[in-house]
Amino acid sequence: MRRAPYLLLICVFALISAVCFAFALTGHSSGLKVGAAAFALFCLLLLGLILKRESRIRELAAALHEAEEAARSNLERVDAERSKALSVCDSLPCILLMCRKSGTVAFANQIAQTVFGSDLQNKTVLEISLSVDLQKLIESAAEIGEACTQNITLNYPQTRDYLAACWPAKYGAEMLVLSLHDRTELTQTRRLRADFVANASHELRTPMATIRSMAETVLDEAHLSDEKHRRYLKKILSEVDRLTLISEDLMTLSEAESQPPQKHRCDLSELARYVCSQMEPRAENAGLQWSCDIQPGVFVQGDDSQLVIAMLNVVSNAIRYTDEGSILVSLSTENRCAVFKVSDTGIGIASEHLPRIFERFYRVDRARSRETGGTGLGLSILKHIVEAHGGRVDVKSDLNVGSTFSIFLPLDEITEPVE
Ligand code: ADP
Repeated sequence: MRRAPYLLLICVFALISAVCFAFALTGHSSGLKVGAAAFALFCLLLLGLILKRESRIRELAAALHEAEEAARSNLERVDAERSKALSVCDSLPCILLMCRKSGTVAFANQIAQTVFGSDLQNKTVLEISLSVDLQKLIESAAEIGEACTQNITLNYPQTRDYLAACWPAKYGAEMLVLSLHDRTELTQTRRLRADFVANASHELRTPMATIRSMAETVLDEAHLSDEKHRRYLKKILSEVDRLTLISEDLMTLSEAESQPPQKHRCDLSELARYVCSQMEPRAENAGLQWSCDIQPGVFVQGDDSQLVIAMLNVVSNAIRYTDEGSILVSLSTENRCAVFKVSDTGIGIASEHLPRIFERFYRVDRARSRETGGTGLGLSILKHIVEAHGGRVDVKSDLNVGSTFSIFLPLDEITEPVE
């Protein structure tokens, strides 16, 4: 803004006005007029100047306001972008940490805070995880400037298996990103599968080895008595039967595991009566007292063939592990559940074995299990089927007194037929 000409003009008119006033005071009336006119002009000019300045100020204020608005909307956009980025980081199904090259934490997503605690800022990764491996991984990524990955088991704050990856951040050259994918379940599943394959092949190898040695004896010993000959052949047959049982149970387990049950409305009372009709003769042959109390009209949503297998397994076990006494089978309803209960007065299970009897191939008394045609898979099949139907299995047992196995299944109440 060029203020000098205005100031000069104001000064000139002020001077003229002053002179005119002086003349007027000394009696020159025309001087007074000129002075008044000059004074008026001076006032007008002053007013114009003030107005001009004001409009300029208004312009400046508007420009400032615009700039402020732009800055505010920019800030809002940055905030929105930031919270979007944060929510992406928080919704990632893994631990995400932003670390400085020194190893201190600059940012931690929600899962990281849940696992390691909320106050992570400026703590070192070593401090929060107590893992030297993780610290070394960060150091390597910082040193080579490339992504490094490693399977790492953290023992603190919990024992979990992770796939850890660390790489330099694209922006912020001093920053590194560290992600930890929890693979504990996967590792456990792999371990269980490996154990299962090892156990299954062991179970199959034993009868096959017996069959082989019996067959060799029959073949090699030319003068084998008829009685021995028959005995060996019978043994071979029983081992083949055993192999068949194992492979059938393995098939049942694999089928139950590979697909969810094909559920429909099942009359559990009818299925339970069928199971009893199959098992009662076996119990009586074993000299056991048999009683059965089936409540009619108990319906569940389920796969009937799988439910029959589950019930047969538990009743068959009761008969196989009871030397004398009785078997009581019942079906009733309780708290919106169907309860299929099998009680026996058998050998019972010592409390230290109870937590493990549902594991595959776990047997308390291996010899007895074998003698009675057990495969060690019955209870794991039972548990798998029942849980896939949204139910649970409960067992109460006292050594040398007897056991009670109860299967709880949710009742199918919604589709109850109107009679
Ligand atoms: P198995 O084919 O050996 O019977 P299961 O999986 O059916 O295998 O059962 C696992 C183990 O649980 C059995 O070996 C047995 O030791 C124990 N068990 C199961 N049911 C009973 C029962 N009713 N009474 C006593 N022990 C039982």
